[in-house]
Parts: sequence; C-alpha cells; structure tokens
Amino acid sequence: MKKGFSDFFHCLVRPHRAYGDTMIIEANVSPHESQSMNNSGAGAIQGKVTLVTGASRGIGLAVARSLARMGAQVALCARDEGRLAAIANELGRDGHKAAAIPADVSQASGAASAVQRTEQALGPIEILVNNAGIGYFAPVQEASEENWDAVIDTNLKSVFLLSKAVAPGMIRLHGGHIINIASLAGKSAFAGGSIYCASKWGLLGLTQCMAEDLRPHGIRVSAICPGSVNTEFSPHVGKDPAKMLQPEDVAHAVEAIVTQEPQSFISEILLRPTQKP
Ligand code: NAP
Repeated sequence: MKKGFSDFFHCLVRPHRAYGDTMIIEANVSPHESQSMNNSGAGAIQGKVTLVTGASRGIGLAVARSLARMGAQVALCARDEGRLAAIANELGRDGHKAAAIPADVSQASGAASAVQRTEQALGPIEILVNNAGIGYFAPVQEASEENWDAVIDTNLKSVFLLSKAVAPGMIRLHGGHIINIASLAGKSAFAGGSIYCASKWGLLGLTQCMAEDLRPHGIRVSAICPGSVNTEFSPHVGKDPAKMLQPEDVAHAVEAIVTQEPQSFISEILLRPTQKP
C-alpha cells in the first residue's frame, strides 16, 4: 500500500536553536525516511539550504512551501515576524526543516543579517530566491523621491545586496541558484508604472549581468517574469482571480529551475495566464 505523507514523518516539531531572532523548526526525520522523498523526483534539492525573501505571503510563501516539500531546508525571510514564525511552525509540523528570519532586505544591514543568520542556522546557502517586492502605481508627476527609494531599494537594491552576500559561499561550493522574481512589467511599459517598471527592467539587467559573472563558477542566475498573480500585491481591478496566475504557478517555475540537470541553464521564464483575466 502506498505510504501517506504523514507516515514518513513523526512530526516531533521543536524549536531547535536560536540565533538572535532566528527561529529554527525541524521535524524528526531519519536519513532513511528523508531519502524516501527522493522518489518524488525532487531529490536534486534534498537538504539544500534555501533562502526565500518575501516568504510571509503570496508568491514567496508558495515557493517556500514547494521547496520545503521537495526536501530543501528553507529560511523564510520577510518583515512580519509573527507570520514567519507561524509558517515555520506549519512547515515543521509537516516534517520539514525551516527557519524564520525576520529582516528588512531593502536595508544593507537587514540583507547582510538575513544571509548571516540563515547560514548560522542552516548552513551555506545553495538556493536564493529574491522575491520580496512592493508596488507603486501612479503617474510619474505624482511620485515622490520616497516612493522611488522604497520601490527601488526593495525590488532592485535588495537583490544586489543579497546576491553579493551569497555569491562567495556559492563560488566556494562551485554551484548554486539565484532566482529573481521579476515581472512582465520588466519587459513592457504602461501609464502609472514608471517606478515599478524601472525596478523590474533594472532587475532583468542585473540578473543577466550577474548570470555572466557567476556562470564560470557553476552558479545559475535566473529570472521569472510573471503576469498578474492572484495575491495581496495589488488590487488587479476588473480582473477575474480564477483566470489569473496563482502563486503556485510561479512556485512551479522555480521547481523547474532547481531540478535542471547540471549542464542546463534556464535563464528566464515568462509566465502568462492561459486566458487573459
Ligand atoms: P505580496 O503578496 O505583497 O508579498 C510581498 C512579500 O514581500 C511579502 O512577504 C512581504 O512581507 C515581502 N516584503 C516586502 N518588502 C519587504 C522588505 N523590505 N523586506 C523583506 N520582505 C519584504 O506580493 P506577491 O504578489 O507575492 O509578489 C512577490 C514578488 O512577485 C514581488 O517581487 C512582485 O513584484 C512580483 N510579481 C508580482 C505579481 C503579481 O501580480 N502579484 C506579478 C509579477 C511579479 P512583509 O510585508 O512581511 O515584509
């Protein structure tokens, strides 16, 4: 008889260690049981340390859940400490190892500390998913310098800071994935999109250049560009949520990237809803 998921794990969930405000949750998984999960075809990332930013809700949460189900150890980063703790507990109850890493990645100190605490808690980062992002949509003549700084620092500067911080460790390991959640807004222009589009066009340029810098070291830097996704991100007025992309669709694209054979490099994925919402 096929074993159910809960049969594999005893779910002895416990806070493991604490580093500052890092909370690590792990389940009691024996190496034999853990190995069984490789049968899913997701063995490529079994045990790999993954840092997902913006993991408190939406796309980042779906990506974190999916990578945890595939066997990765997942560090969950966002500003909302309470939500991160609840998600880490949920993942631990389901038999996964997860760490809550509250941080504001738009600040240099927050980004550095997120990487440092993840590596102290779980080990060297092999997969970084730069997903944290905010939107600002208004005509350029109404936008302020504060609007510009908030969006650019969150959507673009954070990716530079976090990628720069994880790169030396990945170079030592001669491998790794950096996956940047960009947007189709990084490939098009529309009224009211000046600052958000600038952040995502910039992110695609940053992604492509970092990919060239890090390719010789066996590190793959990729971008995923989704269209409208059904999250709390923006109101998506007049769109049918059922036709929109779901956060799990973006997680599926991340799965495709991290399960590639070593010689293959998916550098960019454009993701659209099948029917216009
Ligand atoms: P969301 O539901 O609003 O989630 C955004 C996440 O980013 C939250 O977890 C938020 O957590 C975190 N975050 C924001 N600022 C942060 C900061 N300074 N430091 C750390 N974490 C921060 O949005 P989403 O739809 O999932 O969007 C995720 C990514 O996908 C963004 O980069 C967005 O641009 C991109 N995207 C979204 C869509 C869409 O239609 N939804 C389409 C294309 C691309 P806290 O508030 O707890 O910090």
